[in-house]
Amino acid sequence: MKISQLHQLFLDSSGVSTDTRNIKNNNLFFALSGTNFNGNLFATEALKKGASKVVIDDEKYRSENSILVEDCLIALQDLAHYHRKHLGLKIISITGSNGKTTTKELLTQVLQQKYKVVATTGNLNNHIGVPLTLLSMNKETEIGIVEMGANHQGEIKSLCQIAEPNYGYITNFGKAHLEGFGGIEGVIKGKSELYDYLIRNEQTVFIHIEDETQVEKTKDYKKRISIGSSKEANYLISSYTSNFQACITYKDTKVSSQLTGSYNSFNMAAATGIGLYFKVEMEAIQDAIQHYVPSNNRSQRLDLNGNQIILDAYNANPSSMILAIENIASLPAKKKVLILGDMFEVGPTSHEEHQHIVDLLEPMPIDLALVCGENFYKTKTENVLAFQQFEDLKDYLSKKNIQDSTILIKGSRGMQLERLLDLWE
Ligand code: ATP
Ligand code: MG
Repeated sequence: MKISQLHQLFLDSSGVSTDTRNIKNNNLFFALSGTNFNGNLFATEALKKGASKVVIDDEKYRSENSILVEDCLIALQDLAHYHRKHLGLKIISITGSNGKTTTKELLTQVLQQKYKVVATTGNLNNHIGVPLTLLSMNKETEIGIVEMGANHQGEIKSLCQIAEPNYGYITNFGKAHLEGFGGIEGVIKGKSELYDYLIRNEQTVFIHIEDETQVEKTKDYKKRISIGSSKEANYLISSYTSNFQACITYKDTKVSSQLTGSYNSFNMAAATGIGLYFKVEMEAIQDAIQHYVPSNNRSQRLDLNGNQIILDAYNANPSSMILAIENIASLPAKKKVLILGDMFEVGPTSHEEHQHIVDLLEPMPIDLALVCGENFYKTKTENVLAFQQFEDLKDYLSKKNIQDSTILIKGSRGMQLERLLDLWE
């Protein structure tokens, strides 16, 4: 079947589905397979549950309403690419080590003040999520915002080939997914594939001017728009403040937020600068950012039982961990408690990175520092208390009556540290 015919079937359907558990009537079902399952096995069920057609890649499962392709994943990506070209809308891509989703969500709120925007939902930022995001856009969409995640070389390049972004922003180059990228140099190379794509195709690059690598990688490029506190910046952010609340000032306008952490002021600056570039009024930008409430345990500020909790249990890597620690250290709180869980996917330097975090904590004037997980448990600690098992950490905390404190809770997703919250609820 030609891609134009598949696209027509898509337009006639009620959208794409890849999961029979949440299929909707008249969906076009793609039988994607993973390492542990064969998607073709679900084709019949998809049709029973209301799919108009099913795209399969094994002829054994052929039926009247199936479309046989070489490879379902490639068919999905090709369809998304074709659809993106068909719509001809503006696409902004956001990648980077940390802060992609937050920046994407802030920017969506900002641009929605003036445009019809469709953005990545949640964290659907990979080789499947990006196509699904593109396929959720339609004729009415004016701007698409696509989060692109990567944990190895070549990934951003291929996502760019699918989405063909017209604009792009890299939040930062940090120590995330070190394992797959091969160290920080690998991270810079991998994430910069977005710049390579945009520059090669003469598209616009937004940069964060305080980041020397970003400046260096895009120097002399004409379609570069910079945001930050340096005088040369196209959008000058006159101040970044981070208390329990992240704020920035653009010219004379102070933008406050419901986010915490100095790093979030950079995400806010990006959303502000890009919003201004797209001619959204400053007042509307301020309003959009102020009303944004983070979700998914991502830099959430909670007031529970007399404690101020910074819940950041969504993910953790060496860079975001250090920033979160520096942030709580800088707060004027009376009592401070840090509860940190293991950082996953750090690679061969994992032990040193965990030790480094503990060494940072040891001399800090905090009331209580607790770490938890197999990796932290292997570090050498003095004042910091290490727990191998989550249950032991929770048990310890349940016996301590922590009150009037500012508590940072941060760890990798797999640690599920949000399970501690009921201690204070
Ligand atoms: P993922 O790779 O899981 O998609 P992400 O890049 O989308 O992550 P977010 O979900 O926005 O990132 O934020 C995750 C965490 O990263 C935050 O809770 C915070 O700890 C940290 N973080 C957010 N923004 C920044 C930033 N600009 N610099 C460093 N760390 C940040
Ligand atoms: Mg994300």
